[in-house]
Amino acid sequence: MCVLFDANVEICGVKRIFLSLCLHILVVITANAQLQALCLPASATCRVLPRFSEMEMDMLRAGLVNVKAYLPDAILDIRYATDSNFVGVNVYGAYNKCYLQKDVAIKLQKADSILKRFYPGWKMVLYDCARPVSAQQILWDSLDVPIEEKGKYLSNPQNKSVHNFGAAVDLNLADANGRYLDMGTDFDYFGQEAYPFMEKHYFHTGLFGQKQMENRRLLRQIMTLAGFRGVPHEWWHFNSCSREEARENYTIVE
Ligand SMILES: [Zn+2]
Repeated sequence: MCVLFDANVEICGVKRIFLSLCLHILVVITANAQLQALCLPASATCRVLPRFSEMEMDMLRAGLVNVKAYLPDAILDIRYATDSNFVGVNVYGAYNKCYLQKDVAIKLQKADSILKRFYPGWKMVLYDCARPVSAQQILWDSLDVPIEEKGKYLSNPQNKSVHNFGAAVDLNLADANGRYLDMGTDFDYFGQEAYPFMEKHYFHTGLFGQKQMENRRLLRQIMTLAGFRGVPHEWWHFNSCSREEARENYTIVE
């Protein structure tokens, strides 16, 4: 009885030591894993590895929100994060997301829900959202049109743009099969065919058909109903407020 008791105690004792050792090893492994996540290899001092790109950190510092949290099914086609744009190079580096002011993201969510009410399964295609002034400068310098024409397509970085405050969005729509709507021109087409106020002219000349007219009208309608305003020279661009209001209410992303 006594031996058995001793043996039990001893077994329990061994188990306790074993468990204790296991627990200790687990703590060491976990701590090491955390250190590996937080430290650069072969670095004498630890420093936190960035979880976000520098540009995304700038967005977060300015109080902007990731639009994916508000429109989970939106198609991100952030052209300035690729070389498929008028500059021909990626001007956003590792950043390829859509950040906006929170109230603007909520407004866009409203536009998306209006779209889905009439066209279930359709999605928004986001070309560009908040844009740092530094990127605006690169685009401005690269825009190959006469200087007096530049202001039609981009805000002068010195005057700032509503995009710089995270209060403007460039977008298209995609149908239930993921096909982008035909708007007559691509995003960032720098010609009169992109001008909303010239649509009727191009419809009468036969360049645009009924479909392109309807597609552009649909985009404008859902955005306007949600509280956005279009601009005269770009069918894809919508402001949530004026530049003056943005300057008053929001932090700029430099
Ligand atoms: Zn724009």
